[in-house]
Amino acid sequence: MTAFDGLAWTNRFASLGPDFFTELPAQGLPDPHWVARSPACAEMLGWPADWARWPQALDVFAGNALWPGMRPLASVYSGHQFGVWAGQLGDGRALWLGEVDTPAGPMELQLKGGGLTPYSRRGDGRAVLRSSIREFLASEAMAALGVPTTRALCISGSRLPVIRERVETAAIVTRVAPSFIRFGHFEHFAHHQQPEALRRLFDAFVAQHAPECADAPEPAVALLRRVSLQTADLIAHWQSLGFCHGVMNTDNMSMLGLTLDYGPFGFMDAFDPGHICNHSDDRGRYAYARQPAVAFWNLHALAQALLPLLPGETAAEAEASGERLLDAVEAYRERFAQQMLGRLRAKLGLAGEEDGDQALVDELLRLMAASRADFTLSFRRLSRALSDPEPLRDLFIDRDALDAWLARWRPRTAPHAEARMLAVNPAVVLRNHLAEGAIRAAEQGDFSETERLLKVLGRPFDEPVLPSDAALPPDWAQHLEVSCSS
Ligand code: AMP
Ligand code: MG
Repeated sequence: MTAFDGLAWTNRFASLGPDFFTELPAQGLPDPHWVARSPACAEMLGWPADWARWPQALDVFAGNALWPGMRPLASVYSGHQFGVWAGQLGDGRALWLGEVDTPAGPMELQLKGGGLTPYSRRGDGRAVLRSSIREFLASEAMAALGVPTTRALCISGSRLPVIRERVETAAIVTRVAPSFIRFGHFEHFAHHQQPEALRRLFDAFVAQHAPECADAPEPAVALLRRVSLQTADLIAHWQSLGFCHGVMNTDNMSMLGLTLDYGPFGFMDAFDPGHICNHSDDRGRYAYARQPAVAFWNLHALAQALLPLLPGETAAEAEASGERLLDAVEAYRERFAQQMLGRLRAKLGLAGEEDGDQALVDELLRLMAASRADFTLSFRRLSRALSDPEPLRDLFIDRDALDAWLARWRPRTAPHAEARMLAVNPAVVLRNHLAEGAIRAAEQGDFSETERLLKVLGRPFDEPVLPSDAALPPDWAQHLEVSCSS
């Protein structure tokens, strides 16, 4: 167990120099209180269960104090939002506190909602309790599902009013990740024609997070290939769980292939490939079925940003460099297809691999879409359909078609398919209405539902004690809308 005194805070990002960030104190929360803490995240950090009793812990994670060695800073990045170049963005409400050694390697800690920074633009630098609970629960739920993600250590809250569509209260989530560097960090220095800064960022990132790329004949191509493959794995994982991110702008894309910036995300209830989880995304750019193509598009934006790192003295050289970067991005396609089919084979409990598997998967998804069958429940009930198909049949309108599909599927299943499927098809995901229940209670000062949900979401493949945690959304939740405002 790590003693508080043994924590040595460093900040390698800060050593990049002033082009990359502004150092500034947080605007903390007045008279803060704890809202929630994640024991699983603390355990990952190697911290003892009672870490919240460390000196000043609440004040540190409410932005009112620093532990020795912490150096709060906001970084600058740019990016493409909804397919258009948005120019300079940056940490408008996130502050990097520093980096600490953990059993899982060095981890960075960030406050989200710690007040104004030079990159706040028209924002107030704050995060509301509602969105903080969503980010906190989602981060920890995704981690428990095995999806690469930033983690969440805790939420601090206060009575400080914050104006959104209505008056809400301010909170701060502390996020944890090996790196919060985004595609947008690289885009920033490429777009603003700062090749030396771009090179410095690249060298530092490779040295810390992708050392194998340093020895490649062309490190930038190697890094792009690595990010393309990691992103393919991430998106296949999202798709296999019915997870929609909602705002896949390039500034929300992690260079480590982590799920990053939980805003209007959602796990689908009724399966609809065109499902749009972000109420503000009126054209459906980030609809469920478009996520794989959008990630590919975003990787091209990253390729463009890395181009200045390759030879480009002559037009021929520049063209050849561009081709090699495009080849690296191209690796995404095959990897995504292979990962997606692999995940679906596992969800269906198939034995080995056969040519007809893709068709079998596609037909099930078609039937699910036609019935708007619940995504999570369909796969969970399919897991038990060898012994009892009735609960699954209840989700479908065209039962004859489902029966015909089941007859094709049964002989393809592997030995012990049920147990294998139950281990990959979760019973519980963070449905919007579950988060909403925790938020409504928390807004009344009762954080017990947040804590309870955190525990349930920490064991997503177990049947929950409360059947309602794994059930269809109740009627009141049919029309919950999630906007960008957070
Ligand atoms: P997002 O789409 O939420 O990831 O945010 C896009 C940009 O807006 C980022 O630069 C954020 O830091 C910034 N931003 C979002 N909300 C706020 C806020 N309340 N205050 C300041 N900046 C914000
Ligand atoms: Mg963002």
